[in-house]
Amino acid sequence: MKILISADMEGATGVTWPADVLPGTPQWERCRSMFTSDVNAAVRGFFDGGAAEVLINEAHWTMRNLLLEQLDERAEMLTGRHKSLSMVEGVQHGDVDGIAFLGYHAGAGMEGVLAHTYLANSITGVWVNGVRASEGLLNAHVVAEYGVPVLLVTGDDLACEDALGYAPEARKVAVKDHVSRYAARCRTPARTAAEIRAAAKDATSLAGRYEPVRGGPFTVALEFDAEHLSLAATVVPGVERTGERKVAYTSETMYEGIRTFKAVTTLVSAAVEEQYG
Ligand SMILES: [Zn+2]
Repeated sequence: MKILISADMEGATGVTWPADVLPGTPQWERCRSMFTSDVNAAVRGFFDGGAAEVLINEAHWTMRNLLLEQLDERAEMLTGRHKSLSMVEGVQHGDVDGIAFLGYHAGAGMEGVLAHTYLANSITGVWVNGVRASEGLLNAHVVAEYGVPVLLVTGDDLACEDALGYAPEARKVAVKDHVSRYAARCRTPARTAAEIRAAAKDATSLAGRYEPVRGGPFTVALEFDAEHLSLAATVVPGVERTGERKVAYTSETMYEGIRTFKAVTTLVSAAVEEQYG
């Protein structure tokens, strides 16, 4: 049994503030070890449940946050940027029996600690076939195309609630309770590690590939906080303006859909001016 862990940081234990997840800050340095603790707990739980292999894919920002030297030695880690499936890289080789979304968070425009969808600012909403989308929902569509079940989701309580929509069967662990976008009632790493480890062990009972789901076509709509960003996004072939601050495109598969999404977010983030947005 091989398990893949997609590890994002905003939903990690103790994280509530932009500097906590911003590479290079003293707060980020401190939070990296709590993030690593969450991931280690899941690794141990999956091995407790009978996994033969656990691969961790870094999924936050520059994708180099976890402390390899502190990880359980049985795991391997995929680190760094420019991977064709981004947050769920590694799922496409036909050998993964289940995936965990660790440190996930609510989507753009939703209530939740550090809620966003790919870009921390600028995107105020994403919808897939009319359903408001978080990164979890987008990635759940991608992994379904490879027949891989989502086994476990961790994050704040609202990230867990969001996961009920895209992975109802998955085990959930809320490591903190949302108070505001930048505040949460947090549980200690020792406590969350114990809960994550137990949930991961239990979640291995859900592992096993199924027939790939062809859920497309997918119409992905995005809304921005400024009108010039929608213009910037239409440089990507197939992306049409649907309103002053809105664009949409349609993809047959979410494999294509997520790649177009990455192209849009790359262009849009380059079009944001520091003072004027
Ligand atoms: Zn994220």
